[in-house]
Amino acid sequence: MVTIEEAHKIIKDQKVKLKTETRKLSDCLGFSISEDINAPFDMPSFDNSAMDGYALCGISQEYTIIGEVAAGDKKEFELKNGEAVRIFTGAKVPKDTSAVMMQEKTRVAGNKLTLEQMPKEGQSIRRKGEELTQGQLVFEKGYSITPAGIGLIGSLGIQNVEVFRKPLINLITTGNELIEPGKPKAEGQIYESNSYALASACEQFGFKCGNKKQIEDDFEAIKSGIKKSLETADVLILSGGISVGDYDFVKQALEENGVEEQFYKVFQKPGKPLYFGRKEDKFVFALPGNPASSLSCFYVYVLPFLYQLSGSKKNGMERYSFPISHDFENRGDRPSFLKAKISNGEVEILDGQGSSMILSMAQGNALAFIDAETSLKKGEQVQCLLIL
Ligand code: AMP
Ligand code: MG
Repeated sequence: MVTIEEAHKIIKDQKVKLKTETRKLSDCLGFSISEDINAPFDMPSFDNSAMDGYALCGISQEYTIIGEVAAGDKKEFELKNGEAVRIFTGAKVPKDTSAVMMQEKTRVAGNKLTLEQMPKEGQSIRRKGEELTQGQLVFEKGYSITPAGIGLIGSLGIQNVEVFRKPLINLITTGNELIEPGKPKAEGQIYESNSYALASACEQFGFKCGNKKQIEDDFEAIKSGIKKSLETADVLILSGGISVGDYDFVKQALEENGVEEQFYKVFQKPGKPLYFGRKEDKFVFALPGNPASSLSCFYVYVLPFLYQLSGSKKNGMERYSFPISHDFENRGDRPSFLKAKISNGEVEILDGQGSSMILSMAQGNALAFIDAETSLKKGEQVQCLLIL
């Protein structure tokens, strides 16, 4: 048995080989860049207008309009003092422009321009390089690409991006009692739901599940299922059969497949029978079968490791502190991840904390971390992991 901190350290200390690939810009969301990106040119790359209005030469209230420049125009104007050109947002400002005045603050009669207020030197001009200068570090290796990141990389003219490959995940659920949703249910059977929850949790964070398989509580079947699944997976996630029951065959089946245990059992609630192992460059999480336990363990342990395997600086471990909205006592002897709901800046510990109960998790939006045997008074701070 290890503590939560020890389990995290064992996961974090795994030596992993990261693989890279080149992806099209439009296909990069959530991937982490595998090399620094520096600005190939100044941004903006030329002085341009921040407004639809007039580019002015000299500071006064009256000008003569001598022409027009729109976004994308290559025209060059030689402006003299007292002259102005009609200009539009994003258009290159002529050399010797002192300021741009927005059109709402102007009056025009023929080629005479009168301003309703005095311009300020440099106003409404976006200067060359004011956002980025050529060579400047834009993103460090490991940056996880967001939509804004994609926009910025595109604006730097980069079409193909070097990123870390994401791990391929396979899923195996075990249990004689499990049947697929949609089929008629006999006495003693329950619908298999963990694979749906886990696959969609992977998907939510941009990870793909390759293969999903449901196997009965049969040692040989589980053993050969694991063997086959490990052929294609970087990470194999199992659910169920990892506890101490007579029909819990997963641990032994992993051992007989040459998977080496990194830890088994974590001093926590829920999710005590959590197992983590590796076989060369392939990793295995065997999660307890109880629906809330398996999904909690995914958020707390599997997700950080998936980020690690994708070369990301993100680790999925961010905890946010919220005041609790009511008194609460954790009588249990293990540190707990409790199903909770954050609203109006406070966190509420929900009813229905049983390991099998997923209703509260589905209605909540956080896991609240509360130490064993701890009494909290309303208003005390609680560390929360957001599971939105
Ligand atoms: P186990 O970890 O195999 O002992 O399972 C613990 C509990 O979780 C049992 O009540 C199982 O029926 C339930 N369970 C196991 N696997 C699943 C699954 N894939 N979907 C829904 N419930 C499950
Ligand atoms: Mg079982």
